Amino acid sequence: MDLKIFDSVPDGFLDLAPNELRQILPGPSLIHCRGKKRSPLFLATLLHGNETTGIRAIQKLLKKRRAENRVLERDAVIFVGNVEAAKNNVRRFSKQPDYNRIWNGGNLPEHRLAAQVLAYFKAARAFASIDIHNTSGKNPHYSCINRLEAPFINLARLFSQTLVYFTRPKGVLSMALAEYCPSVTIESGQPGDPYGEQHVYEFLEKCLGLKAIPGKVEAKDDLYVYHTIVRIQVPKEARLGFDENFEGKDFSFVPNLDARNFTELPEGSLIGWRFNPELNLAVMDESDRDVESDFIEYRGREIRLKRPVVPSMFSLDEQIVHQDCLGYLMERYNLPD
Ligand SMILES: [Zn+2]
Repeated sequence: MDLKIFDSVPDGFLDLAPNELRQILPGPSLIHCRGKKRSPLFLATLLHGNETTGIRAIQKLLKKRRAENRVLERDAVIFVGNVEAAKNNVRRFSKQPDYNRIWNGGNLPEHRLAAQVLAYFKAARAFASIDIHNTSGKNPHYSCINRLEAPFINLARLFSQTLVYFTRPKGVLSMALAEYCPSVTIESGQPGDPYGEQHVYEFLEKCLGLKAIPGKVEAKDDLYVYHTIVRIQVPKEARLGFDENFEGKDFSFVPNLDARNFTELPEGSLIGWRFNPELNLAVMDESDRDVESDFIEYRGREIRLKRPVVPSMFSLDEQIVHQDCLGYLMERYNLPD
């Protein structure tokens, strides 16, 4: 698996649907679009094959610029990730690693690919980097950062006033790129929503127009900053449901669990039921320790929270829950002065 590098937009790129890109991109690809300034805006999309808002917003931007004959303010380097999974509209294939967990080294072909992308990125001396994602459950649009430094916060807030700060899982692209330039992951709601595509498109236009990213955070009271504290995982073999019906299930979660994303859940909140007492949820903290007993209480069949938290990314998609996680628990974070 070698990285394919294009030094201009390949024919057809702007018009193909995300699941058709495989026709012109033999695999993970970098596309370097020339603009007025050299230091590029680095854009990543389709690290997860079913998350199509980013590629659609990028296509819209490049098409519009072409139609209006307006040159980009600076170079843009676009990394199109899991083209193979996109063809099948899945997050990833089970034989593949997660393309947003391969960025801190390893021995798989995908790790070598990541190293090639990072080498290109370093040599290009990027101005800023944006990795565009969707969530499988309902969530507001929000930005994630891995460093609480002013340029990161100022880049992130151009997309949303809701920010999530996290340092685990390691191996995400935005964390690797944070070494070199302000870097953000944006979560632009569920795939296929035209509002999400328009919002991302407008954000990219703003970023292209930036001359510099301010080094001081103004009006910090306008921001809602959350810190991810734990990630909830289900046992590999567990059979899951999303209602009270326990037939053939090991765990079931409350219907519309994702409607609770980014809301304050008080201590004692019911999040689901465990029908197989042999199995436990795994609640992993930032040091990868299982701290289930600090957060989760089993009362009979009920699964309840032991402390107040704000959930994010709770998903109702069984395959994604197994491939990634059920969701994250966060707490509000006050930015220091
Ligand atoms: Zn994603």
